Amino acid sequence: LPPGEPLLRVTGLGKAFGGVKAVDDCSFTVREGSVTGLIGPNGSGKTTVFNLLDGGLGADSGAIELAGRRIDRLPRWRRAHSGLARTFQATRVFPRLTALENLAVPSRSYSTRGLRAGVFTGEEAERAQEWLEFVGMGAYSHHLAGELSYGQQKLIELAQALVLEPRLLLLDEPAAGINPALVERITDIVRKLNAAGTTVVIVEHNMPLVLSLCDHIHVLAQGRVIASGPPHQIERDPAVLDAYLGD
Ligand code: ADP
Repeated sequence: LPPGEPLLRVTGLGKAFGGVKAVDDCSFTVREGSVTGLIGPNGSGKTTVFNLLDGGLGADSGAIELAGRRIDRLPRWRRAHSGLARTFQATRVFPRLTALENLAVPSRSYSTRGLRAGVFTGEEAERAQEWLEFVGMGAYSHHLAGELSYGQQKLIELAQALVLEPRLLLLDEPAAGINPALVERITDIVRKLNAAGTTVVIVEHNMPLVLSLCDHIHVLAQGRVIASGPPHQIERDPAVLDAYLGD
């Protein structure tokens, strides 16, 4: 990456559903090595931005550059291979596959070979097991995902994203609906990943978590970025407080 070049650059991104502009002329950058927060009131467009970034949705307008290369016209699996992985707000594990088999899904579904859930080579299985251990789920590799707790499923989903060894990891509400001990564990995991060089973008409603974990925050309201800065600045920004009043 050339000096000064952000890992992710979003320029004038737009997406409408019928008459609703969910994302409207949205622009922001993400510095390589950062943990960047994307916050905003309900309906401000955060999840839609993630869907546009990972290719789950196509943008109506604007550009997305990852490490200086346009990715906005690439299909999802090619964006994944360019180093972008994400988790979802509602976990999407395959309940009838084991935890380990769940980690075989991304490498297949994001490849040109098509989806062959639960099937991988010995070497892939070994790496998958290592990622399960990294998120603290090593002992559960042969448990059916559907029999694990919601929090444990979130960890499996996180490991699923990590198997891709992303350069940019998008986390959609990683702390939603889980107990404080697990929130702490996920915080720990994010810090470790970030220390190892992974850039992270987090959508999260838990403000204490966002403020402690992120080094930079973008605030969305009505589909566009209305404020950007370090947590201590965002916390006291009148425009930000204003945007949340109607929430
Ligand atoms: P957030 O994640 O910040 O809560 P969303 O991105 O989910 O916001 O939603 C932004 C706006 O787009 C909302 O008004 C929402 O109702 C609308 N929206 C999102 N997805 C769809 C969809 N698939 N169809 C119609 N409207 C949608």
